Amino acid sequence: MAVQTVATSGTSTVDLGPAAALSCRECGHRVPLGPVFACEECFGPLEIAYDFSGYDTGELRKRIEDGPASIWRYAPLLPVPADVAGKPNLHPGWTKLVKADNLARELGVTGGLYVKDDSGNPTHSFKDRVVAQALEAARAFGFTTLSCSSTGNLAGAVGAAAARAGLRSCVFIPHDLEQGKVVMAAVYGGELVGIEGNYDDVNRFCSELIGDPAGEGWGFVNVNLRPYYAEGSKTLAYEICEQLGWRLPDQIVVPIASGSQLTKIDKGLRELIELGLVEDRPYKIFGAQAEGCSPVSTAFKAGHDVVRPQKPDTIAKSLAIGNPADGPYVLDIARRTGGAVEDVTDEQIVAAIKLLARTEGIFAETAGGVTVGVTKKLIESGVLDPAKTTVVLNTGDGLKTLDAVAGTGLTATIRPTLDSFREAGLA
Ligand SMILES: *Cc1c(COP(=O)(O)O)cnc(C)c1O
Repeated sequence: MAVQTVATSGTSTVDLGPAAALSCRECGHRVPLGPVFACEECFGPLEIAYDFSGYDTGELRKRIEDGPASIWRYAPLLPVPADVAGKPNLHPGWTKLVKADNLARELGVTGGLYVKDDSGNPTHSFKDRVVAQALEAARAFGFTTLSCSSTGNLAGAVGAAAARAGLRSCVFIPHDLEQGKVVMAAVYGGELVGIEGNYDDVNRFCSELIGDPAGEGWGFVNVNLRPYYAEGSKTLAYEICEQLGWRLPDQIVVPIASGSQLTKIDKGLRELIELGLVEDRPYKIFGAQAEGCSPVSTAFKAGHDVVRPQKPDTIAKSLAIGNPADGPYVLDIARRTGGAVEDVTDEQIVAAIKLLARTEGIFAETAGGVTVGVTKKLIESGVLDPAKTTVVLNTGDGLKTLDAVAGTGLTATIRPTLDSFREAGLA
């Protein structure tokens, strides 16, 4: 893969708050903060390393609690300049942690079941969190076009963020996505390009574009800005713990597309422990996939360390990444924490969407059906402990994937008379 370096508008250093360097996740080699994503030594993926040494736990906690009701309350733990919290672009995050007692009763969970409902973000998916980080990095590095390869939700989040920031956006998606995702990505006025192929083809194309003069000045949020982008997912971990009263959940069920979100939720939890913001005790992370795109759960169940790519075929299009970049790290985390990775069929996804809607009044997109469906399956198989505090992520909004529940509709059509109402048997 080509590694792009871009001059940072005349300055040799960038201010990204507590972010200190980029560090290779494979060999630990460190390089200065910049728009690079692969290690020059071993080609491993880079991630952000921080200097949190100056923080006092009590002061940090107070600063967070006094902060805005968005991800920016955690600015001291993110790769953004300190003043970003005062002038943010979009305000994602601080979404509801819903105590799901009705669902708990149906599933037999006694230890407390919560749904972290990220459909409440500005563009109705968790992707606003990651784009907010990438946007600040893009500005710091002087990029003029914001871009991405997307399974749908990311395209909308990039379009919205770029529109508000006054940047050009040009995003790439597989040509056959749900109408809700396409409209959501197009409405903000940026350029939206459908690629004849699946997400993995789109991603490969974007990597080529980055290495080509045609892609000069382009910040791909999930490719050359990936180290910054990925950090946005930590805010899910921070919020869940703060909303539980600065407490770690025992079990957390996370959907997997590239696996980035799951790995950064783990990173966020470990940071809270290191900073003394939560008590250090064990937690388990569970990954959820659709059977029609289950490269990570297949590897987990087979006891493999490598993830063999698959050709996706599932209604959970937002999770349809056949060659997930963070797959091996997800396997490590699931095994290290005592969790698991499981998958469900499309039928089980639809049933789970309806179950969550019927019990909690939350309309999830197919990805939420995957996490709820996997939670149910893991409880039934005894892998998830129903006596433990469990958090399930709903990462997107059902209005974007209406086709999944297309059979749902009118109970009856009647004339506007009481007789007709009685005839329909509804009285
Ligand atoms: C992108 C996405 C995810 C997870 O993405 P990762 O690539 O694993 O970080 C989960 N749910 C929804 C709805 C998404 O759009």
